[in-house]
Amino acid sequence: METREVQVGGVRFGAAAGVVLCAGPCAVESAEQLLATARAVKQAGARVLRGGAFKPRTNPRAFQGLGAAGLEILAAAKAETGLLLLTEITSVSQIDAFQRMGVDIFQVGSRNMHNYELLKELGAADVPVLLKRGYMATVDEFAMAADYLAQAGNERVVLCERGIRTFETRTRFTLDVAAVPTLKSIAPWPVAVDPSHAAGRAEYVLPLARAGLAAGADALVVEVHPNPQHALSDGRQSLDFPAFDALAAEIKKLATALGRPVA
Ligand code: PEP
Ligand code: MN
Repeated sequence: METREVQVGGVRFGAAAGVVLCAGPCAVESAEQLLATARAVKQAGARVLRGGAFKPRTNPRAFQGLGAAGLEILAAAKAETGLLLLTEITSVSQIDAFQRMGVDIFQVGSRNMHNYELLKELGAADVPVLLKRGYMATVDEFAMAADYLAQAGNERVVLCERGIRTFETRTRFTLDVAAVPTLKSIAPWPVAVDPSHAAGRAEYVLPLARAGLAAGADALVVEVHPNPQHALSDGRQSLDFPAFDALAAEIKKLATALGRPVA
């Protein structure tokens, strides 16, 4: 099926012309942390800044994100750098605040892919959505979740493969590389790959990013932190700035070789 281009601000997902790099910390932790990361990833070639303010953590005692204060920090980073904002929404009640704070792309996390009421409301709100694959969802279930958005009138959808649960424990999840071409054969949406959550370890992020890109990904979403060892969430899989610079340089070369230079 032909991929429909999704335009957000000046960034085009799914365009024949280019692969989009999205990067930033797992969670917004402070203004300093986020701004430093925003500057570093922009410098390396990212167009979209990721970072969670509302974090759906498996452990209820783990850091839950800064909430509304995190959105303000994200807005300040956007104002300074011009990067588009990608941040996770965990409840319908956050939609207004996200729009007010200038969130450009609403991330629906893996744990909320099955939250059909949230999908219907985001469909009606007609905001760009990055929909992550439920880690126990089949490709067909994933495509149908995206169809909830389309059915409600929202055509600005980007899918994101982020790894599924298998018997393997060396990696946090198993990156389903085949999901990229199979999704593209059944759905019109651009497909992003998140190598960070699949890998669970910083040292596997670049090889999985390469694999995702080679399989046809339209975008990559990578976790980056100024000091991964002290990150409040997902530090083990987060790249520091030099590692992200190296990834971006490698990905630019590979994307060019594949005929789709980084946008
Ligand atoms: C995230 O992007 O930080 C995140 C929580 O991802 P996922 O929903 O894929 O686990
Ligand atoms: Mn994370």
